[in-house]
Amino acid sequence: MSKNTIDSALTFSRWSVFFYDMKCPYCSHQDTEVVETRDSEDLASTRRRRECIKCSKRFTTYERTENVPLIVIKKEGRKEQFDRDKLRHGIMRACEKTLVGADDIQKIVDDVEREMRGFDSVEVDSKKIGQMVAHRLKKIDKVAYIRFASVFRRFVDLEDFEKELQKLL
Ligand SMILES: [Zn+2]
Repeated sequence: MSKNTIDSALTFSRWSVFFYDMKCPYCSHQDTEVVETRDSEDLASTRRRRECIKCSKRFTTYERTENVPLIVIKKEGRKEQFDRDKLRHGIMRACEKTLVGADDIQKIVDDVEREMRGFDSVEVDSKKIGQMVAHRLKKIDKVAYIRFASVFRRFVDLEDFEKELQKLL
């Protein structure tokens, strides 16, 4: 078995999606169209509104994902379970009095978790998580990025941080 096959098998076992029967519950037609998609708060399931192409009736499907907990490796080598709320609060603190809104922060947390789940290992270095957040904040709001970087200094590329700081001063 090639390394790629093993990797994708591992990824699949951590992030498996179980599709429910998508055929129309009214007329059993197979072809349906997604009219609305909504991720649930914890990313455990995705709710989709579908419309039957044949009879035009609408119905809802839920696609569930099964998660294995992600582990964060702290600076001292201590390990703890990845906590979305903790990450969100950390970002919120850096974004106080900036233009970054709650929706932006939620999106960053979702993005970062999704990216972590694509890694080869369920154990992710806290520094790596900090860098992923910093990278995204930088695109949204430079001030929030600088604040995040100064609070979580050890997580970011310092040279890059200094450069951004110079631009603002
Ligand atoms: Zn139908």
